Amino acid sequence: MNFFVTGGSRGIGAAIVLQAVRDGHDVAFTYMSGKEGAEAVREKALEIDPERNVRCYKLDVRSSAEVEQVGEQVLDDFDEIQVVVNNAGVNGAGLAAHMDDEEWHRVVDTNLNGTFYVSRFFLSGMLPARFGRIINIGSVVSRGLAGQAHYAASKSALIGFTRALAKEYGQRGITTNLLSLGYFKTELTEETMSEEFHNSWMTYCPMRRTGEMDEVTRVVTFLATDGAGFINGAEIPVSGGLDDWN
Ligand code: NDP
Repeated sequence: MNFFVTGGSRGIGAAIVLQAVRDGHDVAFTYMSGKEGAEAVREKALEIDPERNVRCYKLDVRSSAEVEQVGEQVLDDFDEIQVVVNNAGVNGAGLAAHMDDEEWHRVVDTNLNGTFYVSRFFLSGMLPARFGRIINIGSVVSRGLAGQAHYAASKSALIGFTRALAKEYGQRGITTNLLSLGYFKTELTEETMSEEFHNSWMTYCPMRRTGEMDEVTRVVTFLATDGAGFINGAEIPVSGGLDDWN
């Protein structure tokens, strides 16, 4: 199948790109500022399987015009996309009372609007094909975490968005699901996770550890298999059992 993964230049997105290639898929993926990282991911992917079609594209998912433009280029290069992974995301820290508009929009426009623009674009090809898999990357923080109101709002909105798409397009063979991720060590968590939150996760997560990359990437590629065809509108926790983190 052909995957489209946003934010594949590093972290979880990069690991999803590599897992998809390992599982025999072709992959189009995007980066925003990390061109070198994206090229390194592409090289690694082609080392895994030189026969695969793997390409990276610069995209800021906050711009619907850019999503349309890059989406058209991807369809020229891949003909069709069956699996969309809305992974691109940003976080930040700050109390709501002191948060300026710019910071609010940076997070909400990326995590929520970007997921809408990308899903809308690729749905137009999935509908006539009567097949598709949309996989949204959510967070346990959707339940609310002090200091991350914008992130929590954007990720909890994705749950409603996921359920709505599941209901709109399930009858057309298109499933939409969301992974509610716990704590995975990446550059994003290095940049935004305080020592206090790190220690609290290690204390309260029933498994007393952070997640391993393949514990999220294999769930993503499983959702693309025929065996996952009846999973639709699900919020799947991948969090070691800690789903409401305070
Ligand atoms: P990283 O910060 O490591 O990677 C984020 C990716 O998103 C990068 O490739 C970045 O591109 C891309 N990106 C950021 N802003 C934009 C934008 N406006 N348009 C397009 N791409 C953009 O994050 P993680 O790998 O940790 O997180 C991946 C996803 O998982 C996110 O949605 C995050 O919210 C979610 N998540 C992560 C958790 C964790 O513990 N790590 C926990 C719960 C959820 P570039 O670097 O090229 O600019």
